Amino acid sequence: MDLSQLKVGQRAVIQKVNGKGQFRKRILEMGFVQGKEIVSVQNAPLYDPIHYKILGYDVSLRRADAKQIDIKVLGEEGKAEKQQAAEAVPTHHGMLSDEPFAPKHQAKKELIPIRIALVGNPNCGKTSLFNQVSGANEHVGNYSGVTVEAKTGYILYGNYRLEIIDLPGAYSLSPYSPEELYIRDYLTGAEKPDIVLNVLDACNLERNLYLSLQLKELGLPVISALNMFDELERKKDLLNYPKLSALLGIPMIPTICRTGIGLGALFDELISLYEAVSANDEDWLNDERGKARSLKLNYGVHLEPAIEAVSRPIRQHYKDYSPLEVRHLAIKCLEGDKVYLDKLKEERATAVRYAREEELKRLEEELGKMDTEEMIADARYGFITGALRETYKRRKQEEGSLSDKIDGIVTHKLLGFPIFLALMYLMFYTTFELGAVPMDWIDAGVGTLGGWVSQLLPDGPIKDLIVDGIIAGVGGVIIFLPNILILYIFISFFEDSGYMARAAFIMDKLMHKMGLHGKSFIPLVMGFGCNVPAIMATRSIESRKSRMITMLVVPFMSCSARLPVYILIAGALFPSSSSTVLFGLYLFGIAIAIISARLMRDTLFSGEDVPFVMELPPYRLPTLRSVLRQMWNRAKQYLQKMGTVILFASIVIWFLGYFPRQDEARKQIDEQIAQVEQSTSLSAEAKAEQTNELNAHFTQMQQEQSYIGRLGKFTEPALRPLGFDWKMSISLLSGLAAKEVVVSTLGVIYTGDSDDSEEAQARLSERILQEKRADGSPSFTPLVALSFLIFVLIYFPCVATVIAIAKEAGSWKWGAFTVIFSCGLAWLLSFLVYQIGMLII
Ligand code: GDP
Ligand code: MG
Repeated sequence: MDLSQLKVGQRAVIQKVNGKGQFRKRILEMGFVQGKEIVSVQNAPLYDPIHYKILGYDVSLRRADAKQIDIKVLGEEGKAEKQQAAEAVPTHHGMLSDEPFAPKHQAKKELIPIRIALVGNPNCGKTSLFNQVSGANEHVGNYSGVTVEAKTGYILYGNYRLEIIDLPGAYSLSPYSPEELYIRDYLTGAEKPDIVLNVLDACNLERNLYLSLQLKELGLPVISALNMFDELERKKDLLNYPKLSALLGIPMIPTICRTGIGLGALFDELISLYEAVSANDEDWLNDERGKARSLKLNYGVHLEPAIEAVSRPIRQHYKDYSPLEVRHLAIKCLEGDKVYLDKLKEERATAVRYAREEELKRLEEELGKMDTEEMIADARYGFITGALRETYKRRKQEEGSLSDKIDGIVTHKLLGFPIFLALMYLMFYTTFELGAVPMDWIDAGVGTLGGWVSQLLPDGPIKDLIVDGIIAGVGGVIIFLPNILILYIFISFFEDSGYMARAAFIMDKLMHKMGLHGKSFIPLVMGFGCNVPAIMATRSIESRKSRMITMLVVPFMSCSARLPVYILIAGALFPSSSSTVLFGLYLFGIAIAIISARLMRDTLFSGEDVPFVMELPPYRLPTLRSVLRQMWNRAKQYLQKMGTVILFASIVIWFLGYFPRQDEARKQIDEQIAQVEQSTSLSAEAKAEQTNELNAHFTQMQQEQSYIGRLGKFTEPALRPLGFDWKMSISLLSGLAAKEVVVSTLGVIYTGDSDDSEEAQARLSERILQEKRADGSPSFTPLVALSFLIFVLIYFPCVATVIAIAKEAGSWKWGAFTVIFSCGLAWLLSFLVYQIGMLII
């Protein structure tokens, strides 16, 4: 029987993990090894993925992946047996030092530098620790995959200068995921740390220690923070950690990184370890029962001789390797570690490769099957289970914990989706409805500031640059700040509480059909607000392929800046059915996103992907401080990155629309205005009207003659097959900076007025209907409007989005790809719509 057939609530024992490559390795490392007990907790509302409990933690697996795991269903006896075994555990309750962390600095002697690497499973509290000790504000989240790059912080502690590196989370040091490889290279490379600070989730030791064992096997000096000790105490589990520490040869100190408790003791111990290592202190390092002794795991009667046989040629080939390094390399070779095998090939270690093959053949003959990868994972887990049996006692059965109860509702078959949609709706409603209030204030503020400055400054290009270029440009950036802040409060709260992982869990099936990942959903939803933060939110997707695809399709989510264009055009041309058109456009964007995601998955990003084995962390109540801090950090990022770019772009667009000046024409207009003023036959009202008309006429002319106007005329032939005239071309060009600019440009071209007040908009939509081509036919027919709307939806997202994509993808190539892909697709679709429409009509 396979795991996918296990009924909800049933228990089973794992027999064998099939499949291959990355999937198998990851699954083994996460504790899916022979003999482990697993419970099926719940199916996602769409029946896939499935929520399991194994080794006391929660994990979600896709059904297709679960099929690869053979199991044997357990009856009630299995449960009773387990209970008894647990009763026999000796107990010792650890005491938590409540000494908080305070950098103590006595600047007497020269400072000694210590390089410390933070290593641990995702979501165990590494970043919390890093923030506590370095005073930094890195992003913590109750959601795996939040730290994507290494961050370095410095603190002075006693006579030491500690350099602390926060690495991404990893379950193992295998060469499968890029993060894990990155960490391994880092730990063994030239910049290797003096001490490895291994952060452990104390409630999840069985899985967490798998990584610790590997760190010890690398021969690195390791110290552990037994983090989340508060949760362990709350559960009333018992842990004899001094004994565990001695069994593993890793000093362990209980901590609560969220509040900083225990960190003082941790760093004192860390420094003792450093001193012992640098002084080669026998008592510390070589004592048989010592807490920092080296660890030699016994891999059993079959593997040990093989390890020894492969070690011999390694010793000869790599003369400067220490015994530990030799053993480590031998184990890695037998395990079939790609990177190490390539290394052997490159360095022509033929004898080693030969010995490896011989041993694998011998094992196969002896055992009938030969699966060293699994045997090694088995042996490691066997050791860990043994050590925990002697030191750890789980007080209660896990079932019925608060997290389980919440999960029962939030991912419920019937309730799951309504709750999810309600939360999304709440997020959107608050973001845009509540956000509209401060938006109006900012708008008014920017308007007042512009008016005030324009009174202060003399007329001329400088004044126009400051008022229409800079103030309006900056205003255009900060106007979205309230939306972004509110959106981020929600996202931070979802991430910190643990709900985000559940959202990914229930959405995974749909997303997977699109070639995406459950975690892609949130960025896509955020895209309806603003594409820029949405692209930044893709960071939590571990799989690079899924992340790239998500990033590249986010621009097809109609952001709020496109809405004014839709409202104007749809309102003018489809007055009776404008909301249907609007809704249709949003759906059309989603459809384009789905199709292009599938397409990219099959072409640009095909091949094996990181399996969807996602941990479902226990729910935690986020602290207000961390939510606000995170919100502020992200807002700052938005302002810094986008502020500069948008400012620059709006100045460029302003420049292109402002120059060359039509001074001759202005003079003529001024003369005409003067004539009107002097005329005696006109009423004051008629005078004002005529003056306005003349001014508007001039603005239109100025726009037409400006660089952007000329560019618009230049590009017109390319856009004519889509039904657009040069005026529309100009507005589309100026929309490159930001899509809402399309509306104000249309305003300038058609009415000589860029005002966005209600009357001005009504006037504009009237003018749009009256607009005629040279042959007298209307410029905007419903068909042209449709083609135009589709073009606005799909083409070039905006400067800020393109830059965000280039930055997040790590290469300008992807920025360029977005530009070409979106513009090409927009052209093609509008072309089809217009030409086919013309045939039909
Ligand atoms: P990382 O993925 O290892 O960097 O983990 P984070 O530092 O982002 O923390 C993961 C989650 O655990 C966050 O929600 C933290 O607030 C929470 N957390 C961190 N340390 C502790 C702790 O000692 N006790 C409790 N209860 N929660 C913690
Ligand atoms: Mg982190």
